[in-house]
Amino acid sequence: MAKLATNTDLPSGLETFKQQDWSSAYCNVEKECSNIQLDLIKGEIPKKLSGIFYKNGPGVLERNGQWVHHPFDGDGMIASINFQNGKAKFTNRFIRTKEWIEEEKAGEFLYRGVFGTKKPGGAISNAFDLRLKNIANTNVIKLGNELLALWEAASPYSLDPETLETHGISNINGALKANEPFSAHPRFDPGHHKEPRMVSFSVKTGPKSTIRLMEFSIQGQNAGSLLSDRKDTFKGFAFLHDFAITPNWAIFLQNAIDFNPLPFILGQKGAAQCLKSKPNGQGKFLLIPRDCGKFANKPPQIFDAPNGFVFHHLNAYEKKQEVVIDSIFYKDFPSIGPEEDFREINFNELPEGILKRCRINLLTNKIECEILSKQCCEFAMVNPNKQGLPAKYSWMATAAKKSGNGPLQQVKKLNLINNETHYWNAGSKGFLNEPIMVPNNPAIEEDDGWILSLIWNGESKTSELIILQASDLSHQATLKLPIKIPYGLHGSWVNLNQTKSIELT
Ligand code: FE
Repeated sequence: MAKLATNTDLPSGLETFKQQDWSSAYCNVEKECSNIQLDLIKGEIPKKLSGIFYKNGPGVLERNGQWVHHPFDGDGMIASINFQNGKAKFTNRFIRTKEWIEEEKAGEFLYRGVFGTKKPGGAISNAFDLRLKNIANTNVIKLGNELLALWEAASPYSLDPETLETHGISNINGALKANEPFSAHPRFDPGHHKEPRMVSFSVKTGPKSTIRLMEFSIQGQNAGSLLSDRKDTFKGFAFLHDFAITPNWAIFLQNAIDFNPLPFILGQKGAAQCLKSKPNGQGKFLLIPRDCGKFANKPPQIFDAPNGFVFHHLNAYEKKQEVVIDSIFYKDFPSIGPEEDFREINFNELPEGILKRCRINLLTNKIECEILSKQCCEFAMVNPNKQGLPAKYSWMATAAKKSGNGPLQQVKKLNLINNETHYWNAGSKGFLNEPIMVPNNPAIEEDDGWILSLIWNGESKTSELIILQASDLSHQATLKLPIKIPYGLHGSWVNLNQTKSIELT
């Protein structure tokens, strides 16, 4: 694993990896560990790094010889790494969802997956079975005393933040109705309205779509209590995975996408495989006023969005009459067809994720867009204290090559003001997960902190955790994990150091 401080881009078309090294990460998580002290492969854990890194992702990809059709259909497994005094301890648990327990007992898949996994027995056995399996595999966050495993099509599962023991489905202190879905992408307002808050949403979609925007207290005795709640209905089907916040707005991008449920009903496709880009469709930015902001109780504002499909946003902020949002745009909705094997996907045939900035002028209704970075990227974030504010720096995972899609093999720091870049390259056999930026505490500079990411080492066929300095991506430590963890989805950091961060404005 070499650290490269300069651009390591290769021309498009040149491969930097072997497919087998990349796909070897896909396996079942074999065991559960409790408080295992991690061995250092190299470097040293920064002593000031004090807190818990949580990570969620699919942990079951195969049952009785049958593989999931898409890793997103794998049951959630939470890993936690607790850092204290330069040492790190590892714990992991499968989330004991009702369906995981049933399938463990049966030893085979009993439920269909949203991304195309079928029950054994072909279309006849799958047709008209419209039950959703809550796999709780997309994100993990701490809210009050609960650790919540999130999957956007169902209610969260509550876990013990220390032991990761599953407590059961959470309605978040009564905020959610029975079986109400809850987004896997909450945003944390660092304190634009005095106290920090968690902002999240649920969406009920069909020919019309209703977004329920919720804000929760995250500090003190009231942590986890619902502070505000509003519902807005919009025209058309809405697939909303992520959103962004500013002090006054919650910003959604309603992709131009259609949902034809027939192949799902007939047992031929998973529900997510029935999503299709609408030819000549028009995406929309939906700006919903936050209840704590200066446009509270006003109706939402709607603007035409540029072409493309967005899963994730980097950040958003307000500048005079403009709302500015940075998002990762794909040319089209990327999906894995019913006949394809996800382990054999040809990255060159997938659209790449390009970081774009859109400036929405609230007075003139005009939108101006510019490309911030053409290099294929995912999992981008700013310093959490800059959520909703103009940030100078961003961190993301990128492909190793300059253009086109590829597996995530580099961490990139991008200066959003002058485009200066730093890279850390995982090597030709190293593959990244989502990099998490952990601010130093207290921090003086916006890029004072660390980057943490799980890595799949395709050479040793093991999982590792890397720690980089956030400012220059210099390598600090590589830790060996006691289990193999397939590529995961999202994670979070919980500070154990109570010192209040210096406010970064
Ligand atoms: Fe996501």
